[in-house]
Amino acid sequence: MRFGNFFKMLSVGALAVAAGLSMSVAPSSAADKGFVGIAMPTQSSARWITDGQSMVKQFEEAGYTTDLQYAEDDIANQLRQIETMILKGVNVLVIASIDGTTLSSALELAADNDIKVIAYDRLIRDSGNVNYYATFDNFQVGVLQATNLVNGLKERYGDADTWNVELFGGSPDDNNAYFFYNGAMSVLQPLIDEGKIVVQSGQFGMDKVGTLRWDGAVAQARMDNLLSAFYTDKTIHGVLAPYDGLSIGILSSLKGVGYGSGDMPMPIVTGQDAEVQSIKSILAGEQYSTIFKDTRELARVTVGMVNALLEGGEPEINDTTTYDNGVKVVPSYLLKPLPVTKANWEERVIDSGYYTMDQVK
Ligand code: BGC
Repeated sequence: MRFGNFFKMLSVGALAVAAGLSMSVAPSSAADKGFVGIAMPTQSSARWITDGQSMVKQFEEAGYTTDLQYAEDDIANQLRQIETMILKGVNVLVIASIDGTTLSSALELAADNDIKVIAYDRLIRDSGNVNYYATFDNFQVGVLQATNLVNGLKERYGDADTWNVELFGGSPDDNNAYFFYNGAMSVLQPLIDEGKIVVQSGQFGMDKVGTLRWDGAVAQARMDNLLSAFYTDKTIHGVLAPYDGLSIGILSSLKGVGYGSGDMPMPIVTGQDAEVQSIKSILAGEQYSTIFKDTRELARVTVGMVNALLEGGEPEINDTTTYDNGVKVVPSYLLKPLPVTKANWEERVIDSGYYTMDQVK
């Protein structure tokens, strides 16, 4: 029996006894405006650290107590953390899932105990017990990534008849990965159909180009294989990379065979999250672009949702059609992602106060 199914059968009280915990684990300060459990996927990417920090800060400023946990991309660990939060008596769970399909039993337990659930950034699938979803316009992220890619190809390889491009997707267990890929393909497919863009490997679709757990080393290894299988006598001009952590791995692989030096210009490589390492890479002329998603804003929207939920108001939403999780369409608030290149990075990430100049130089 899976851990989650086991707990599904228990009430919180029984769960506490089973876990050898007393129900007094709820912090005394949980008496204030409410107690919020925040489950984040990993600290291996800076964006999730910023998300966590922004939420704790903003929730505390609004009078809430928080319990912030990172699961380091271990699904069982995240499930345990969420179940422990339920035990501790949280009023609301804010969850950025690792695998969006594995939380149903924990969320049933949450619902049984009248705990509201907000899916944070990543949609939680296959559960009716998801109240709201706070995220960015994920399809638009893909559109912007591909638009950056095409702009870069025109800029760097305007004279070429065709452009050789390879495609990378995010983690197949993350609903966002499909939105990014589909958004990007809405821009790239017409160029592929007319023969302007050629994918020499013939590898299309999330089942072929997905990168489990968004792992940069996995992307780097795939890029190594693509280069040795398809590009020993051809130039690669661009790579669609959906996340900065993958972009950095892909760039290492490209540099390994000589791109970015001598008469081999660096292919156009995209990204997402405006991570410090990638801003530095853009400034160094290596990564071409990234996408800025202001996680402080995502935290603000989420705190607003929690306030409304706990005070009997209506959370602000701006999308009621896009995010079908397999059981229900989850009412959502979508923030606007912004493209970043060498031409506008300062305005995006410095002027907005997201980073200081010292961090990126
Ligand atoms: C997020 C992206 C992030 C990726 C990898 C996605 O769910 O929306 O911002 O790059 O996960 O962490």
